Amino acid sequence: MTTTIRNATVLPCTPEMPVIAGGHVSVDGARIASVGPGPGPEADEVIDADGDVVMPGMVNPHAHLPMTLFRGLGEDVDDRLFRYVLPLERRFVTPAMVRIGTTLAALEMIRGGVTCAADMYYFEAEVGRVLDAAGLRGVVGQTLADFDPPDHASMDEGFALTAALADEFAGHDRIVASIAPHAPYSTDIPVMARVADWAAARPEVRVQIHLAEMTSEMEWADRTHGCRPVAVVDRAGLLIPGLIAAHCLYLSEAEIARLAEADVRVAHNARSNAKAGRGIAPVAALRAAGVPVGIATDGPMSGNTLDLFAQFAPVSMFQKLLGRSRGPMPAVDVIAMATREGAEVLGLSDRIGTLEPDRSADLIRIGLGAPRLHPVYDIYATLVFAAMPDDVTDTMVAGRWLMRDRQVLSVEPKKALRDAGQIAASFRAEMARIDAG
Ligand SMILES: [Zn+2]
Repeated sequence: MTTTIRNATVLPCTPEMPVIAGGHVSVDGARIASVGPGPGPEADEVIDADGDVVMPGMVNPHAHLPMTLFRGLGEDVDDRLFRYVLPLERRFVTPAMVRIGTTLAALEMIRGGVTCAADMYYFEAEVGRVLDAAGLRGVVGQTLADFDPPDHASMDEGFALTAALADEFAGHDRIVASIAPHAPYSTDIPVMARVADWAAARPEVRVQIHLAEMTSEMEWADRTHGCRPVAVVDRAGLLIPGLIAAHCLYLSEAEIARLAEADVRVAHNARSNAKAGRGIAPVAALRAAGVPVGIATDGPMSGNTLDLFAQFAPVSMFQKLLGRSRGPMPAVDVIAMATREGAEVLGLSDRIGTLEPDRSADLIRIGLGAPRLHPVYDIYATLVFAAMPDDVTDTMVAGRWLMRDRQVLSVEPKKALRDAGQIAASFRAEMARIDAG
């Protein structure tokens, strides 16, 4: 099967970030065959894009997908984590709950043009299976933590779950297994060192961690190890090439240089960090040092959305605030981070993140019909400051259409919403019980 999309505003997101007006993208099977100006080759299916944007599917390098089911729960309750969320997780996080939450997440991502996400949660094989069935791409991270998580009572059990996950998805085209020590303070040096050894024997498995996210984490590192979190991870031997570090808010210049030297990648969660009042990650400094930084949503409990468009303005504005100038983080860089650089963060840039021959055909079409998108002087500024997920009309992953003309083809929307509503009803009942004391 071959497809040619022509008469498009093609954004290949290659390093020069060109804009190809009246261009084409042609797809042969699961791969991109050609990209460039003009109408391109004839094909089994020819689509006239009528000037719409065609660009790589976007990459979200840090999320907790099943937590869609917690979206907006206890939003204004100061101690909601301990009052509601942890008790609900202990009681209700099961493979079935993870399936339902991830299905809702898959639906949201397909509709918002996000074709690849890195996840960190529990019963992670279920996350991989749901993303696979939905046709999406994912890096699925089995969380390891010492706070009595729902799916492992000991680290031995956690490592066994991760080994089974890696076996299940070994050689899979779209689903990559990952091991996710939750954070320095919830694993500590012996577990992180064990992860480093384990990952060295399984080079295809990605490693994810929350790092330098909270002041309480800084205090823990100082109290327990007399240093800062980056140094704790370094002592454990876990600052390894390809490590996906989420957040990285509190970094010194020396730590930024160390992350660059170690070939660590960063997932930036501007909106969720701001909502928690935590701070602004030094994204411009990280990127200047050569550290790839992707744009992430974090979980829908802390960030409310899996929509990357909602992240774009904060990502740009926060760096401008830090730099007290319009200069930092131009719109074109934001789109580069959401595509090519996000793929680099996940170690997938040989497959996705750009529209180039032989890359996987993971692409989206963004309609420009909405008045708020006009006129267009700089298409990148339009996408960063005015576009919304509903502007995405079509989503393709590995040559398969997951959405055509806003109709999602690989997830059943009504069932996804109904199932999520049923879980929410059980959460509500438990919250009422908690409130009644
Ligand atoms: Zn997180």
